[in-house]
Amino acid sequence: MPATVPEGVRHEPRRDRLIHERVHDPYAWHRKPTEPTRCSECGALFLEGRWRWGLLYIDAAQGVCPACRRAADHAPAGVLILTGRFIARHRDEVLFLLHHHEGVERQEHPMHRILDIEERDGGLVVTTTDIHTPARLGKALERSHHGDLDIRYVEGQYFVRVHWRCDA
Ligand SMILES: [Zn+2]
Repeated sequence: MPATVPEGVRHEPRRDRLIHERVHDPYAWHRKPTEPTRCSECGALFLEGRWRWGLLYIDAAQGVCPACRRAADHAPAGVLILTGRFIARHRDEVLFLLHHHEGVERQEHPMHRILDIEERDGGLVVTTTDIHTPARLGKALERSHHGDLDIRYVEGQYFVRVHWRCDA
């Protein structure tokens, strides 16, 4: 990112860092939760300002984490749409790759998860709990199989729409 980005510039190709700072996630906790707090649904622990896995021996307050609340509400923060002939021909391979990369992402960032994968018109629609995972998954597909990747953050909202098309 250039050192001086003038105020009001709204079409940078990579806006995820800016979005992250500027746009409020409505599912984030409004005030700092008691530390530590453990999610009663998934077991993630909020400690030292972030969510992490494990540490089951730590006594913690109970709560429900933002990712589990999004899952319960069916309220994704991102969508990755996969289209093109490649998906039909290599469906299992694509699904494997999606789950693999989500697993790596979720291990490091417990709030970054796939909510659902749905087949639609011969393609796949992947919804996520966060605005980072769709781009990560799309970039992983692009690295492996080329195709065309398009990442669009929805102005003023905590939402990303990513489209990957491949006809190989
Ligand atoms: Zn949870």
